[in-house]
This record gives sequence, C-alpha cells and structure tokens, in this order.
Amino acid sequence: MTSIYSSRWVLPITDSPIEKGAVAIADQSIVAVGARADVVAKFPEARVEDFGDAAIIPGLVNAHSHLELTVMRGFLEAEELDFFAWLRKLTIARLAMTADDLLVSASCGAIEAARAGVTCLGDASSAARQSMQALNTLGLRGIVFQESFGPDPKLANENLIKLRDQIDALRAFETDLVKTGVSPHAPYTVSAPQLAMISRLASDQKLPLMMHAAESEAERSFMVEGRGPFVDGLKARGIEWTAPGISTIQYLQRHGVLETRPLLAHCINVDDDDLTTIEESAAGIAHCPKSNAKLGHGRAPFAKFIAHGINVGLGSDSVASNNTCDILEEARFATLFARVSSMDFSLCNKPNESQTEVYATDALFAATRGGARALGLDDQIGALKPGMQADLAIVNLSGAHQTPVNDPANALIFSSSARDVILTMVAGKEIFRDNRVDAVDQDALQSKQGRIRAKLATVSLL
Ligand SMILES: [Zn+2]
Repeated sequence: MTSIYSSRWVLPITDSPIEKGAVAIADQSIVAVGARADVVAKFPEARVEDFGDAAIIPGLVNAHSHLELTVMRGFLEAEELDFFAWLRKLTIARLAMTADDLLVSASCGAIEAARAGVTCLGDASSAARQSMQALNTLGLRGIVFQESFGPDPKLANENLIKLRDQIDALRAFETDLVKTGVSPHAPYTVSAPQLAMISRLASDQKLPLMMHAAESEAERSFMVEGRGPFVDGLKARGIEWTAPGISTIQYLQRHGVLETRPLLAHCINVDDDDLTTIEESAAGIAHCPKSNAKLGHGRAPFAKFIAHGINVGLGSDSVASNNTCDILEEARFATLFARVSSMDFSLCNKPNESQTEVYATDALFAATRGGARALGLDDQIGALKPGMQADLAIVNLSGAHQTPVNDPANALIFSSSARDVILTMVAGKEIFRDNRVDAVDQDALQSKQGRIRAKLATVSLL
C-alpha cells in the first residue's frame, strides 16, 4: 500500500525545495518525491494526507547523544563550569544507576528524540544494551557506540577483552535499524595502547568508532603541556602521563584512530592542520554547539568544517549539558555562532578565516544529510528521494512564532524548534504523531525517571 504525505513545502535536501510537494512511501522506502499533483497522478490508488502549512524534511539526525544520561538533565549545573568536577559527578552518579534505571533513562531520551523529529542517533553509551533496547522499542534508527574507558596502559589488554565481549553480546540486539559501534571515550580517559587496540578491533570487525576529541581547555593542556586537572586526576590514581606535545587530532592519528574513519564529537580546539588531517582521513565530526557553549568550552569552527568538505553532523550531546535534544535548535545555534565574528576560544577563529558565511541551508544539511554522512548511513537516509529509507519529519510552520514564512529553510532554522514537529517516521512507520508516542507509556516512564533522579540526589560524591 502506498501512502502519500503532502504539505506546503517539501525539502528533499539533495534537491531544491518543492512548493505544494508530496512524498510517496511504500513499505519502508520512499518511492516518489515531487509536486503534489504529479505524485498523486503517479499513484492514483494511494492514501493521500495533507499537512497544510508544514515542511516535510528528511528525519533529523542527532549525531552525538548519550540517551542513558537523560535522567541527569539539569543535575550538574552547579559543576558545569569545572569540567573535571562535572565529569566526576556524572561518573559517580552513573555508577549508582541499575540496568533498569539506565533503560528508563535511555527510553525517556528516545521519547524526546522521537518527539523532536529525530529519526537516527549516534549514541555513546556505557550501557549500550539498554540504549539499543530503548531505540528498538521506540522504533528509532541509530548506531549505539559501546564506551570503553581505561587511562592506565597496563590495563589496556584487559579492557579490550572486556569491550570485545560486550560487542559480541550486543550483536544479538542488532536490527535492521540499530547497529553497534565502539567508543574509546576520550584521549584523557583511554590510554594510547588501548586506543590503538580498539582501533584495530573496529577495523577488523568493521565496527563504526566514535570518540570525544578536542573538546576542552583541560584536554588541550593535558595533551600539549602535560598539566591541568586531567593530569592531576591520573597522578592521584598512580598513573604516569607524559604529554605528547601535540594536538588531540595528531595524537589520534599517531595511535591509529583516524584509520577507522571515526566520528569525532566536538573538535573545538582544532587548527587548520588538524582539519586537513580530519579531511584526509575521511573522519566525520559531530558538531555540538549548545553543549560546547553551556559547558563553557568554546565555539567549534563550523564554517571551516564545511569549507574543508568534512562530513559534519549536529549533536545534542547529553541533555546533562544542553538541556534538550532539539536538532532544529542545535542548527540555529550552529548558524548563529558561526556568524559571530570573534577570536575567542577556537584556534581557528582568526580574522582571516576564509569562509565565514553559514546559511540556514548549511545547518539544515548538517542536521540531516551531514549527520547521515558522518554516521556512514547516507546511502539509506538523510535525503528525500526514491530508493531512500522513509525516514522523515513533518514540521508545522503555521505558528504565531513562524508566520509569515518567507523561506521554508530559514523558517525551520530561525523560527522553529522540536516543539513544532508534528510527525516523525522511521522506515515507513509513524513513531510520533498527534502529540503521542504510542510504543511506550511516557507518563509511567517519566515518573520512574523522577524516582531515579531522587535516588541520584542522595548519592555521596566523596
Ligand atoms: Zn558526549
């Protein structure tokens, strides 16, 4: 049975916007995109539904999330300008969560994503099994990257064996929509030998790899100067650290990580050489402008990512540092920050920055097709065209805060947010519609989440 969804605008992303457009869907796939009259004429038997003054776009891609941390929304705001203290409190609180707690938290995050028009996530998780289960239950698409930690080089082998066992077990939970990946957490939490071993594992098993990279000043001084809170933290645990004196990106290249074409989250402290290295390695970037700003880490050079032709998607990061999973808002921040001309934070923000013009269409591309590319899924998603998977979002554009609409891409990026999404579809299945997510009991999950949060508030941080 073919279904046709039409609206005032259809934005295929790989083609120009279509006014009075329509998308025809059969089973899991898109079978036609074009002017409403043409699509209806092509499939006269199809069920046709019109959404009025709205835009149909490819499903939004959240290229960097931590669904399991949804319960920590607003939990770490007293610590968020001290990254080491923030990470420490987060780690201690996460250890206090049971497997069921993590599932509830991830499920609440998946509900938020579905309601926001997000159809695909690149989710980094210490409890990948629960995050995969949450995505599967909601009907979302995604890659769940099992996190690996271990700053002590002596334990690298042991930690690798643990990760390999986790991946073997996770394979059983893979579906057509949800796949497994690996995530060595960050250069300051995973030793160099462990980074190299995980990279080899990823290459051997064709596993996607993501990691946090070049995110904070604390990380920069750890890598370049060998001082700061991360160095002190290792010393307190009896772990020696000799700074390599190079940037995070060059360090990742040295230890084989870039050979896996990784997805790198953040990339704030990167210079032109780093960007060339990323470009040449075909790595992707998850640009997280709101999280970067909220934690006071700085402004990543989004315009330069685009100018270098790097596959860049947008990520919310965890809602503990955001506080929402709202990729339209993320795209708005990406555009506005890129237009702010200043020399703060990023090593790239020199006055002679060669490309500084970022338009709403650039951010919308990153929010959809760019994210799909960064996750290596662009052969299936990220554009509305025949043969692609039917992953889409319909965004109402008739609100008082949106009208009159001059240009649909500008209205989406500058006037709209997750709250304007009216329908989310993954692989031809409506997972959010009429303000409801039917796959789960949202109220019950949110009350359970409230109880978990109350428990976390009592956890000793000593
Ligand atoms: Zn993150």
